[in-house]
Amino acid sequence: TAPLLEVADLRVEFRTRDGVAKAVNGVGYTVDAGETLAVLGESGSGKSVTAQAVMGILDSPPGYVTGGRILFQGRDLLTMSAEQRRRVRGAKMAMIFQDALSSLNPVLSVGAQLGEMFQVHRGMSRKQARTKAVELMERVRIPAAKERVGDYPHQFSGGMRQRIMIAMALALEPELIIADEPTTALDVTVQAQVMDLLAELRREYDMGLILITHDLGVVADVADKIAVMYAGRIVETAPVHELYKRPAHPYTRGLLDSIPRVDLKGQELYAIRGLPPNLTAIPSGCAFHPRCPRARDVCRTDDPPLHPVTEDDGTRIPGRASACHFWRDELHAR
Ligand code: SF4
Ligand code: MG
Repeated sequence: TAPLLEVADLRVEFRTRDGVAKAVNGVGYTVDAGETLAVLGESGSGKSVTAQAVMGILDSPPGYVTGGRILFQGRDLLTMSAEQRRRVRGAKMAMIFQDALSSLNPVLSVGAQLGEMFQVHRGMSRKQARTKAVELMERVRIPAAKERVGDYPHQFSGGMRQRIMIAMALALEPELIIADEPTTALDVTVQAQVMDLLAELRREYDMGLILITHDLGVVADVADKIAVMYAGRIVETAPVHELYKRPAHPYTRGLLDSIPRVDLKGQELYAIRGLPPNLTAIPSGCAFHPRCPRARDVCRTDDPPLHPVTEDDGTRIPGRASACHFWRDELHAR
């Protein structure tokens, strides 16, 4: 059967003053029902833009999908009519953003905002919608939901607001949720609680979940698989435990080495040298070569394809691929 979501060879360009920025450059991934995919990368890697293309909320202009397919339950969202697409997006997909305060309406109580979903999309009365709003607030474990349903967004803490965003996303019981840096603005303990909640709801509702993050540390316990993006491409994919144990791309290694470790107090944190490239002038060959500690001459001229990662005896490792000429060396390093 078809995956819940299949993105294939997706390309997105932005017209900028400096020229055409190739924000997404042939990206593909799949998400099944009940599965969590983490998409990891620095800002500008194309992870959010890919998600916006899936949701159909790219700012166009200046952003345009210039190629590829986005299959949702086997149907290509890019070739549907605008009306069909709106229907799929409204009922079957939802997105959670980093900044709940700017995504929520400041002059409406959270109960009114949650209730509106049920009034508009489910034709419920105001009173029924209110009851559903309280239920949802309880579902995302907001304490004293009944008493707080009339409160305004600014009266909640950052973590509680993010729970309200999750409740909004869940309201129509979507089949896919995309969460873009959902915990980045929160402190570490609250981050973990919100991530755990998302993971739990994903299981309970058997949804597909895409977690977009720049922080490998927060997705370790909740993701099933990871796609690492760099300069608009996927440079490595792997089941989550495999990626941590033995990355097969120097960029992934760099990201892993930059995670703070609780067991090393006062450590000096490793940082990948240099900056992500300007997307109007992506480096030749492997786009990561100017920053890569492993780069050799071939890396400046030859663009490495996303290659299946195998054991030494040639057996393919399920779900693993790397876009590095020297993936085998990296796999065996350290
Ligand atoms: Fe580094 Fe070369 Fe691999 Fe690119 S292809 S990640 S530059 S070693
Ligand atoms: Mg982003």
